[in-house]
Amino acid sequence: MKDTCMTANPATPARAHDRPMLELVNLRKSFGNKTVLHGVDLKVPAGQVVSIIGASGSGKSTLLRCVNHLETPDAGSAVLIDGQRIGGPDPARVSRRDLRRRRVEIGMVFQHFNLFPNMTALENVMEAPLAHRRGTRAEIRDMAAGLLDRVGLADRMDHHPGKLSGGQQQRVAIARALAMTPKLMLFDEVTSALDPELVDDVLQVMRQLAEEGMTMLVVTHEMAFAEDVGDRVIFMADGAIHEDGTPAEVLRNPQQARTRSFLGRAM
Ligand code: ADP
Ligand code: MG
Repeated sequence: MKDTCMTANPATPARAHDRPMLELVNLRKSFGNKTVLHGVDLKVPAGQVVSIIGASGSGKSTLLRCVNHLETPDAGSAVLIDGQRIGGPDPARVSRRDLRRRRVEIGMVFQHFNLFPNMTALENVMEAPLAHRRGTRAEIRDMAAGLLDRVGLADRMDHHPGKLSGGQQQRVAIARALAMTPKLMLFDEVTSALDPELVDDVLQVMRQLAEEGMTMLVVTHEMAFAEDVGDRVIFMADGAIHEDGTPAEVLRNPQQARTRSFLGRAM
């Protein structure tokens, strides 16, 4: 079958509100003379869980990193969080105030957990709220303990990362990201480095977060997670969104030959 040009097909699941949480307009990014993102447009309503799939090198990580400005987009970034635009039309000139808002309102979890090795699980979760003076030390301690309980680590709070399994460390990393009460969570292949038997506990925490209504962008190879938990699946190829729809549409009935070919290998 011949590929047709994709038109935008924003999935509209019942539980997502109309209120936009994230909006990217014509987002572009190059490294040297290599263009990695070719003008990505993406609108994500509050509460939507978007799974991002695609081959290695297709630009998935760069897209997430541009959203929270770990990378500076070359053009077109316009991040809207909860109806309020962060940053002007020139992404290279984002103000310090806007950068701070992005860092606080957007939580990110990476493949490698990057926990502070010299701090306990509890201290790792307390670190950012303490630095941002989000309350008294006792209040922040209670909040952090509550988060570690939520990710199933109530009995591991005083352990250092070196004494925790990869899956436990990743759940601490999720709790740490949640400690700043973000409005949007970005997950970049957070289970890819884990032993298979540790993956489910981490996915279960993400599933619970999705059910509580968190807006999430999830780069993943876990097709079962994308199908069961996600509201929407985006397939990226060569720095562009190639297919965009509900999990049933993209995973079960892909319209594009490249999506079919990718899924043929991945599923
Ligand atoms: P994915 O996450 O889908 O595997 P990435 O966003 O990591 O893809 O990478 C997309 C492309 O951008 C790749 O070709 C990669 O080599 C390149 N790239 C990513 N980060 C950098 C960087 N900091 N410097 C140079 N090239 C980069
Ligand atoms: Mg990546």
